[in-house]
Amino acid sequence: MELIALPAFEDNYLWLLHDGHQALVVDPGDAAPVAGALRRLGLRLAAILVTHHHGDHTGGVAALRDATGAQVFGPARERIPEPFTPLAGGNLVEVLGIAFRVIDVPGHTAGHVAYFADDVDGAPLLFCGDTLFSGGCGRLFEGTPAQMLASLDALAALPEATRVCCAHEYTLGNLRFARAVEPANAALADHERACQALRERGVPTLPSSIGLERAINPFLRSREAAVTRSVQAHAASANDEVAVFAALRQWKNEFR
Ligand SMILES: [Zn+2]
Ligand SMILES: [Zn+2]
Repeated sequence: MELIALPAFEDNYLWLLHDGHQALVVDPGDAAPVAGALRRLGLRLAAILVTHHHGDHTGGVAALRDATGAQVFGPARERIPEPFTPLAGGNLVEVLGIAFRVIDVPGHTAGHVAYFADDVDGAPLLFCGDTLFSGGCGRLFEGTPAQMLASLDALAALPEATRVCCAHEYTLGNLRFARAVEPANAALADHERACQALRERGVPTLPSSIGLERAINPFLRSREAAVTRSVQAHAASANDEVAVFAALRQWKNEFR
């Protein structure tokens, strides 16, 4: 299987997974880059997986489905271009001979889902849309901090080797904030240097891994003493784990 991050818009990645004959695409906000890749690589589009309803994740769904006959899967609780197969946490989706488990991850939107496969060519694979980013997490447009914390806990509990396919190249901005939160985290400083070198060459910083995110991402580390102390120095009223997480997210919203 080959995994490709197709760039779209300013900073989106449309993830394409293929076996040389058939492909699936995740969150095609724009049909054109996907259609171009299918043509170039001689692939048939078998399925479209959608994580949530935002236009930069769904804008190309109808055109791709009409052009290819691909089956569309998406969260049952969101408005996805019809017709699609509605999914909820715990469902299994079989595509290209791979079984993806659906994980409910509300927070960025109310019905956001992620797709996890435990063995794709020997390593687990996660498509997490706008819930988990490298070094960060999605903004809370529809969900509560408690929901997002629980969603990130569910993703953090996946195997460390899981390849994390996020939908945006937000890594450098996220790591700059992460360093403000946790200035003494050496793994974070190392990773920021590595990502700067990648971006200077125009290479994606993704996929990340769950093991790496647990070491560097403040939103997966809000219960670590250093992160909690740092958040409380910024927002003194943050006195339980949900309040600390909420204050961390708010700090990031205001960070320049
Ligand atoms: Zn979104
Ligand atoms: Zn997005």
